[in-house]
Amino acid sequence: MTARILDGKALATEVRARIADDVAALRAEHGIVPGLAAVLVGEDPASQVYVGMKHRATEAAGMVSRQHVLPIDTTQEALEALVGELNDDDAIDGILVQLPLPAHLDPRGVVERIVPDKDVDALNPYTAGRLATGDPTFFSATPYGVLEILAHAGVETAGAHVVVVGRSNLVGRPLSVMLTLKGRDATVTLAHSRTRDLGAICRSADVIVAAVGRIGLITADMVRPGATVIDVGTNRKDDGKLTGDVDFEGVVEVAGAITPAPGGVGPMTVTMLLQNTLEAARARRGLPRR
Ligand code: NAP
Repeated sequence: MTARILDGKALATEVRARIADDVAALRAEHGIVPGLAAVLVGEDPASQVYVGMKHRATEAAGMVSRQHVLPIDTTQEALEALVGELNDDDAIDGILVQLPLPAHLDPRGVVERIVPDKDVDALNPYTAGRLATGDPTFFSATPYGVLEILAHAGVETAGAHVVVVGRSNLVGRPLSVMLTLKGRDATVTLAHSRTRDLGAICRSADVIVAAVGRIGLITADMVRPGATVIDVGTNRKDDGKLTGDVDFEGVVEVAGAITPAPGGVGPMTVTMLLQNTLEAARARRGLPRR
């Protein structure tokens, strides 16, 4: 059996077109143009690429995209002051501070300064707490993208055993909570580097989500025939090409459905950031969520 390929790029194109339509309707009906501000400190090449991608996608969706590029020696006070200004700026609905920050800066202090109703990257502990108590505001973009891929593929999470490998605050941990919210109703195992016998745990999964950052971590013998495998990993091979955490060539022969990497979760991450910005723009003006 060869798995169904869950094409995140195609889904992202579809969802971004719908977001652009919603943005156009918001502008026509209410005169509102959602705005996203990205803050980048220093010249880290990967961060520059990510911020550039988000900027182009935001503009393509018809939203305002503002980029604030600060020098590498920016102080904590100056960075937090900028976040404070963006908090007060009515044209801005979403604020994202591109991480990682240079080592002398405290990322937690910065994300805690973002007002919750503009926390579209969902890294503020308030946002994480609202999710943990079952009353979420924003879903962080990568796990949100994973949920959208599963929903679009018709993969039922209710009652399913989902193994999430990786427990970061960015991906694995929030995803594990999202999957257990009422309405999604998965039974979740959150695995990490201290997990014993990852293979056995994965073999009992209906859905495996790999979010670790290790090439070839998930192999065919760890996958139950017919299971769904979502690869969040983004790793650079020796030849410079990108690849995920899943041994795609082997697993595609066993799984029922699988995301490629690249071309799976990545395009959906940027898409769900746009979705969050749109939702923030509506919510800040008292308009219902769509
Ligand atoms: P991270 O903060 O480094 O977390 C990695 C997690 O993997 C940790 O919880 C770690 O466990 C766990 N881990 C490490 N080795 C393991 C092993 N052998 N078995 C099981 N678990 C293991 O990484 P992250 O930020 O979550 O990112 C994970 C991957 O996703 C990276 O490749 C990243 O580039 C990618 N990513 C992709 C997107 C996208 O849009 N496609 C977005 C974000 C991240 P401990 O907690 O015990 O250390």
